[in-house]
Amino acid sequence: MSEKKQQHIVMLPFMAKGHLIPFLNLARFIEKLKPYCSISIATTPLNIQSLRSSVPSTSSIHFAPLPFSPTDHGLPPDTENSSSISHIDSLPLLMFASETLAPDFDKLLSDLTTLHRSPPLLIIADAFAGWSLPIARNRGIPYFAFTTSGGFGTAAFTSLWLHLPHRLTDSDTFHVPGFPDHFRLDRSQMSHYMSAADGSDDWSVFLRRQINLYLKSDALLCNTVEEIEPTGVHLLRRITGLHVLTVGIGREVGMEVDPCIEWLESHRPASVLYISFGSQNTIGASQMMALAEGLEASGLAFIWVVRPPLGFDMNGEFEADRWLPDGFEARMAEKRRGLVVRRWAPQIGILSHKATGGFMSHCGWNSVMESLSRGVPVIGWPVSSEQFYNSMMMVAEMRVGMEMARGAMGEVNAKKVERVVRMVMEGEKGNAMRNRAARCGEMIRSAMEEEGKKKGSSVRAIDEVFELAMRKSLEMN
Ligand code: UDP
Repeated sequence: MSEKKQQHIVMLPFMAKGHLIPFLNLARFIEKLKPYCSISIATTPLNIQSLRSSVPSTSSIHFAPLPFSPTDHGLPPDTENSSSISHIDSLPLLMFASETLAPDFDKLLSDLTTLHRSPPLLIIADAFAGWSLPIARNRGIPYFAFTTSGGFGTAAFTSLWLHLPHRLTDSDTFHVPGFPDHFRLDRSQMSHYMSAADGSDDWSVFLRRQINLYLKSDALLCNTVEEIEPTGVHLLRRITGLHVLTVGIGREVGMEVDPCIEWLESHRPASVLYISFGSQNTIGASQMMALAEGLEASGLAFIWVVRPPLGFDMNGEFEADRWLPDGFEARMAEKRRGLVVRRWAPQIGILSHKATGGFMSHCGWNSVMESLSRGVPVIGWPVSSEQFYNSMMMVAEMRVGMEMARGAMGEVNAKKVERVVRMVMEGEKGNAMRNRAARCGEMIRSAMEEEGKKKGSSVRAIDEVFELAMRKSLEMN
């Protein structure tokens, strides 16, 4: 036991809310399963400030600061992560800036080695932080990449960035290298920066560098549960050739009291549609108007997290009189029909509430997992990145949702909004999706089962992470 007490591991998330949150969840899961292990999460001071409150002082999770001065990289002084960047086109600045953390990360490993009188047992680094692999190799520390997205999404993302197959054809649809022939993507399923990518642009340069490095990891941890997406996990193994361990879990609900949760209390079970496009995306101005009109016409209750539309400062003030139909908010507030929330809502609390019956989502992977873990079907409206493939898989493979629209520029009209939300919230098809989502929720809960024979797949994967790390460590040193 005294030997076990000395174990410590280091985690290195990419600086984006959608990455920090699953890293923290994974750290909590490891803490629960391996209480003798001390965990250091290395990130920038501003991110530490915002994460610290979610970890009690008695926890074995510690935060290790990596000094970061946003202005040195042409970023606004208050940039803490990609969610505080007002336009997606500025993201490459933060991506390249993240690579400059290398010397401080190396120093941190050295300090932690001195403090614990032994090097860390392993490093769990974001798949976007492949730059840290040479540092780990140099120090003889086992290195596992962690993808905060799911199996299918990560497999498609990896293959697409490595091969840029859309550049090899004029056709509207194309094959994803390494995928079975029937998985064809449409050009509408690409973010604008991937459409424009030619291998020499900032996005390609950064992402290809990280991908080629993470592919050399000792193993790949994936934020999914194998039982809910066996095809996706199989494809991820095939595309990366890595030993893939699925460590996905359902996120716990905080204890916060919030007006959204109080608002839900007065609604019938499964009657409220929750709408959010994640921590760093928004939709177009005309789409926003159509969505509001369609929601009003549907007569359904909703909570909608709004941000200024595409083309405006996403973190700026939301001007309801400019971007929503006249008097919309007041009409919706009457009789508690709809609640319009600015910027941020307690998502996991909302999804966990019995009144929530559907989630219109950009299909960021955390949102998908959070929704399915609560048995809530999804209306997909992917906007960026691997969200398009997440939405595709949810509709075609898991059959737990429908797609509403694609991208922040595509045509959306109020009639379609009304039809789709009613179908998912009230129709037979929606009920079937809800049942399948509930089944996914059961699988996610089973994956976290800790005891005996019923030990879940995510728990077994964490056991394997530690066994593998110890074996690697012996081989290396
Ligand atoms: N989130 C939240 N409230 C919001 C928007 C987002 O709590 O108003 C959380 C959400 O629960 C999820 C994360 O932020 O854990 C967003 O991650 P996701 O992968 O869904 O999307 P991203 O923001 O990375 O695009």
